[in-house]
Amino acid sequence: MARVLIILLLIAIVLAWWYLRKKRSVAPLESLETRTARWQSLLERDWPMWQRLPAEQRATLLDRLEHFLERVPFTGAHGLVVTEEMRVLVGAQACLITLGSDDYPFDDLHGVTMHRDEFVVEEAVEDEDTGVVTEGYQTLSGQAIESDRIVLSWKDVLESVRRQDGYNVVIHEFTHFLEHTRPGGDRAARVALESCLAELRSAVDRGEQTLLDPYGAEDITEFLAVAAEFFFERSTELREQHPLLYVLLRDSFHLDPASWEAPVALPSQTEH
Ligand SMILES: [Zn+2]
Repeated sequence: MARVLIILLLIAIVLAWWYLRKKRSVAPLESLETRTARWQSLLERDWPMWQRLPAEQRATLLDRLEHFLERVPFTGAHGLVVTEEMRVLVGAQACLITLGSDDYPFDDLHGVTMHRDEFVVEEAVEDEDTGVVTEGYQTLSGQAIESDRIVLSWKDVLESVRRQDGYNVVIHEFTHFLEHTRPGGDRAARVALESCLAELRSAVDRGEQTLLDPYGAEDITEFLAVAAEFFFERSTELREQHPLLYVLLRDSFHLDPASWEAPVALPSQTEH
C-alpha cells in the first residue's frame, strides 16, 4: 500500500513539474511589431542620426537591423552584460552605412565583442627607418579584425552617438569591415581618393587645423574610415570643404547624407 502511495506521489510530482514547465513555455512571445516599436523609440531617444534619416531610409534600417541582430552574436568582455540598447545602437549604425545598397553585407561577420571602456591589444610596430619590429601594446576604442569580428568600447560608442561631431567608432570600424570584405571603386576613384589623402597629409604637415581627424593621414585605409565618419556626421561641412571627397564617398556608399535633415547633437552624457 505504502509503495502504491509513493508511486502515486511521484506521478503527481512529475505531472505538476510537466504542467508548470509547459505553462512557462507557452508564455506569449513578443511580437515583431512590439519589438520594432521599442527599438524605434530607443533610436529616437539615443541616436540623433535617426531624426535626420528620410522616412524610407528609416523603414529600411529597421528591417536590416532585425536581420543583423538575428544573425550577429554579441559578446561582453570581462563580464560585461550586453544589453538590448548596446545591440540596437551598434547594429543601427552598422546598418546605416549599408542603406544605399540592396544587399546585406555582413554575412561573414562572426560577432561583435563589447568592452566597457577602451581595451588593450598587443601590437607589433615596425620602425620605418630601421625595419626593426618591436612587440608593444596599444589602447583602442574599436577594432575590426579583418572580416571576422568587430571589437568596440561601449563608452566610446555612447560618446560617438551622442556627440555626432565626426568621431564615430562604430562607423569607423564597420567601414573597415566593408572595405575589407567588399573593396569597391574603380581605378579613377582610388587615385582620386589618394589625392584627397595627400591633401590632408600636406595640411597636417603644415600644422593647419583640418576638418578631418589628422589620424586619417596615417594611410589610405584609415583615411577612408575617418572620412566615412565625417561623411555621415558632418555631411554638409564635408561637402563644402572637400567636394571631391564627398562625391567619392557618395558614389561609394550610394547615399547623400548632406541632403538629409541637419544634425542636432544631444547634450553630452558620460554615464548612461
Ligand atoms: Zn581604423
